[in-house]
Amino acid sequence: MRHRITVLGAGYAGASAAGYLARHLQPDDFEITVVNAEPDFVERMRLHQLAAGRPLRRHGLAEMFAGTGIRLRVASVTAVDPQQRTVTVADGEGTERIEYDSLLYTLGSTIDGQGVAGVAEHAFHVAGQPAALRLCRRLDELGEGGTVLVVGGNLTAIETATEIAESRPGLRVAVATSGELGGWLAPKGRRHLLRAFDRLGIAVHEHATVERVERAGAVAADGTVFAATATVWAAGFAVHPIAAASGLAVEADGRITVDRMMRSVSHPGVYAAGDSAYVIGANGRPLPMSCASAGFTRMQATAAIIGDLTGHRISKTPLEYLGNCISLGGKDAIFQAVDGDARSKPWSLRGRTAARFKAFVLSGAAWNMSHPTYGLPARRRRLTAVRHRAPAEVAG
Ligand SMILES: Cc1cc2nc3c(=O)[nH]c(=O)nc-3n(C[C@H](O)[C@H](O)[C@H](O)COP(=O)(O)OP(=O)(O)OC[C@H]3O[C@@H](n4cnc5c(N)ncnc54)[C@H](O)[C@@H]3O)c2cc1C
Repeated sequence: MRHRITVLGAGYAGASAAGYLARHLQPDDFEITVVNAEPDFVERMRLHQLAAGRPLRRHGLAEMFAGTGIRLRVASVTAVDPQQRTVTVADGEGTERIEYDSLLYTLGSTIDGQGVAGVAEHAFHVAGQPAALRLCRRLDELGEGGTVLVVGGNLTAIETATEIAESRPGLRVAVATSGELGGWLAPKGRRHLLRAFDRLGIAVHEHATVERVERAGAVAADGTVFAATATVWAAGFAVHPIAAASGLAVEADGRITVDRMMRSVSHPGVYAAGDSAYVIGANGRPLPMSCASAGFTRMQATAAIIGDLTGHRISKTPLEYLGNCISLGGKDAIFQAVDGDARSKPWSLRGRTAARFKAFVLSGAAWNMSHPTYGLPARRRRLTAVRHRAPAEVAG
């Protein structure tokens, strides 16, 4: 019987991991199955664009994996049982239990409502495709006469507010944030950001901690009312509760606790990557949830899976955080580089050049995802070691 590797999630981490594994492992020995809730790979980094009305290119997972030997199961993961080595999935036909021998958990993240009242009932968000489409429909309904309040002052809030303001100039757009808008940016970057908000006519409310979201807007802790016909919650990401409910060791925020090789510290045979994994980077700090982190952690996880199952040496991949590139609509952006302590360096790339760089990053990532085995040498490694090494056996 072949060794069954199941990859949960086909986002930036999962889709490329599956392609890499398929290319490196001998198909006579391994069966690779990917479970994903949607039939497409979704370019999550463009969901604010989708919400504002710019459609996404479709990347069908069936077409992406055609000819790779990867089995695709379009279904929602509802539970993982790492003791029994099973995953429960649900689709229109009902539920099913899938058995696995090795598991790669890459279910990504969703919004972090932070327990704020009314978020689930009244707020829109852009953390997933269905939610972004719902916001888009709402903006269509508003036409030329509404106020959109974006809650948050970090990357997603900035990208969402600027994209909506640029694409829908008839709407009034405002942001409310508990701290400073883009407060982590170095002075030049921050000045550029504030100028862009000014140019786009976006009202900025800083030091406004939203305590409640209502149908007609949001209320801050000091009682200030922000009237809005659509409130968009963009105040951070949180992971799905599935990992914590499964009994896997997780951090307080629900991310899976892994060793340097992305192995679950509690359950041999389970690996995690992307937003779902709690990973300490080379700078000694947790890697931020980001596409770049998904790339690094995916590389390490697949190296570990291949090494653990075929006996090959596992090389360490870098776990770096180099900076972030923030879109300010379609024609403007900021690339803010950070130092080894994750503090912003004085230098940043700004304006059209940064926007072109960001566009290149987005389309490069999408191309790589939609060609998950392209350019990879076929190293058909055989199954030699079914024993999963315990994390402590591998030097950190
Ligand atoms: C609007 C927006 C803009 C962003 N911009 C940037 C940026 O500029 N730069 C950057 O680095 N990062 C950005 N990010 C963050 C980045 O998208 C994530 O960090 C990245 O997608 C994480 O990759 P992942 O593979 O862990 O998760 P994802 O890409 O989210 O993939 C998870 C996959 O799992 C599937 N899934 C989830 N739950 C289930 C379930 N129960 N059952 C089955 N399948 C499931 C999902 O459908 C998805 O396919 C942005 C995010 C958003 C929302």
